[in-house]
Amino acid sequence: MLRATGIEKSFGGRKVLKGIDLDAAKGEVISILGGSGSGKSTFLRCLNLLEMPDVGEISIAGTPAPLVRDRHGALRVSDARALGSMRARTAMVFQGFNLWSHMRVIDNVIAAPVHVHGMAREEAVERAHALLERVGMGGFAQHWPRQLSGGQQQRVAIARALATDPELMLFDEPTSALDPERVREVLDLMRSLAAEGRTMLVVTHEMAFARDVSTRVVHVREGRIESMGPPAQMFGPDASPAFRAFLSA
Ligand code: ADP
Ligand code: MG
Repeated sequence: MLRATGIEKSFGGRKVLKGIDLDAAKGEVISILGGSGSGKSTFLRCLNLLEMPDVGEISIAGTPAPLVRDRHGALRVSDARALGSMRARTAMVFQGFNLWSHMRVIDNVIAAPVHVHGMAREEAVERAHALLERVGMGGFAQHWPRQLSGGQQQRVAIARALATDPELMLFDEPTSALDPERVREVLDLMRSLAAEGRTMLVVTHEMAFARDVSTRVVHVREGRIESMGPPAQMFGPDASPAFRAFLSA
């Protein structure tokens, strides 16, 4: 579902990603752990080209990202339409919910299907109601985002992400901005997505989620994958010393 090879990215001459290789098979749930500033968000943003990597190759569901080198050697998008269709096959859920505040819940959920995928409005509305039910927000279609708690907003954001039936879901600390009592409702929803075979990359600090839900845990340190493996290995006695130090910190 995902193949990322040799991803490098610098900001202002400082290398933040130093060559990251990561593949994800269909149905994998990969937890990405690491200290603040290690490059986790930048890596996720590179995968759907919200951020342009300096070097590297990405393919999603077997289709290479439409990137070419210009004559200065920098990567750039070669085909805007192919970029649009690549983005349409991935969905990203952020820490800060990022619902469109001027749109009611239902309009947040139908926006991409209608405006990006060209779905008929009626069909999109019907699907959106089913998705809102699915995330436990069935009664809130006509609410405004500001009328919802953080956990409710994040569940709507996940319904919005699901509305395009993405092949790859990217989550960047989806529970970090929530009150402790709201974290669980979002994690439970993510567990159910994992159980239905969604392919997910999840940057998180929720160790129980990483241990119990992921198929693989990746430790990012200073712009590199320091170690990775199945949770039993990463949380077991043979984990790398750097990862154990991260966990105990
Ligand atoms: P993480 O998500 O692991 O906390 P980030 O990927 O957000 O780390 O950031 C990695 C490093 O890159 C940090 O030092 C951060 O300040 C820097 N960085 C991220 N985005 C930008 C940007 N747009 N411009 C300049 N520096 C950035
Ligand atoms: Mg981050």
